[in-house]
Amino acid sequence: MEVNLPFAKRLDQDDVLKEFRNEFFIPKTSDGKDYIYLAGNSLGLQPKKVKEFVNEELDDWAKLGVEGHLYARHPWLPYHESVTESMARLVGAKPFEVVVMNTLTVNLHLMMVTFYRPTAKKYKIVIEGGAFPSDQYAVKSQIKFHGFDPKTALIELMPRPGEACLRTEDIVSTIDSQSESIALVLLGGVNYLTGQAYDFHEIARSAKKNHCEMGLDLAHGVGNLVLNLHDWNVDFAVWCTYKYLNAGPGGLSGSFIHERHSKNFELPRFAGWWGHNKSTRFQMGSEFDPLHGAEGWQLSNPPILQLAALRASLEIFDRAEMNCLRAKSEKLTGYLEFLIKSLDTDFYSIVTPSTPSQRGCQISLKTGKKKSHIGSKEFVSKMARHGIICDYREPGFIRLAPVPLYNTFTDVYIMANILDQL
Ligand SMILES: *Cc1c(COP(=O)(O)O)cnc(C)c1O
Repeated sequence: MEVNLPFAKRLDQDDVLKEFRNEFFIPKTSDGKDYIYLAGNSLGLQPKKVKEFVNEELDDWAKLGVEGHLYARHPWLPYHESVTESMARLVGAKPFEVVVMNTLTVNLHLMMVTFYRPTAKKYKIVIEGGAFPSDQYAVKSQIKFHGFDPKTALIELMPRPGEACLRTEDIVSTIDSQSESIALVLLGGVNYLTGQAYDFHEIARSAKKNHCEMGLDLAHGVGNLVLNLHDWNVDFAVWCTYKYLNAGPGGLSGSFIHERHSKNFELPRFAGWWGHNKSTRFQMGSEFDPLHGAEGWQLSNPPILQLAALRASLEIFDRAEMNCLRAKSEKLTGYLEFLIKSLDTDFYSIVTPSTPSQRGCQISLKTGKKKSHIGSKEFVSKMARHGIICDYREPGFIRLAPVPLYNTFTDVYIMANILDQL
């Protein structure tokens, strides 16, 4: 690899996915240039087709009113089913193991209602130290809801002294050594702060061997990593669709529930009418008859406008294919890392693992040995004035996420240049 613009441009020319960038609106600076947008891990960009998909539903609602449930071009009654297959492909699941419903933290709670069933002896939850705040709040509130104390019921995984990321062997040994008291292992993947991806298969094997339930929060994993939820044998997973899946602010969430639970109607769950047998739902009976599979966890009839935006986005993933996106992503993040390392890295350190299989499309930086203003909010504002959108997260991290669908090798090259100047 080379540190020069012609080299970056050559990589762009050879990129088989380069045309996909044209399918997105790229935010513009005040003088009309494209921003270099490295914040797709926070909010993905808008696919140009979204407007058309959403407008179709607005038009059908205007024309048909309630009849749209049956006679819209895409009838609203079974509407959520239209995203199931694409979503299942993205997470490596069978279609009936997946449903799109609610928002992420809501689904995390619903899954814990089912899969966090603490007993007097086996009641602890394992999470990453410094997990995303919403996940921490959700987990702690579930622990309290069951009458336990987070101080004793929460095991927070910490990196070894002097290290920024967790090691798989340490996660596994924590589960093995405390398995008698652990009810649930819940990991984020990719870690939102460091960009680390874990060996989910290995960790799930350890959890299942020790009779612990295993869940994943894939907010930063879906649309980023190649996922194999069914084969990894995790019990459940949840994710959102507004980060790498580009379904718009407040976009819906997906849930995965493994096949082995699909017909287990003994499992406790919070029920609603959309989870009820479709053939008798409108008989308005009083006995809940849950659907098989993940659909049986639905509560409400879903928001069609958000689903329309998601349909537009998933259609792009179907054409681009996750394996190809991941191949480009590894190159793009690899090039970003290479360029950053070619600068004076004493001003900052890279906290993201350097092994491609252990990270998503993200490089996180922290202030290094020499004092610098990297890792401050002011630095991120300065970057924005130079046409780069990235983000700052407490304490002292900046996150750069080159997204294979719409970022280029030239983006990454220019961003490294500006990092150098600043
Ligand atoms: C983005 C993110 C969330 C956000 O939750 P919402 O319920 O969608 O607001 C939660 N957890 C993780 C790990 C995230 O990355």
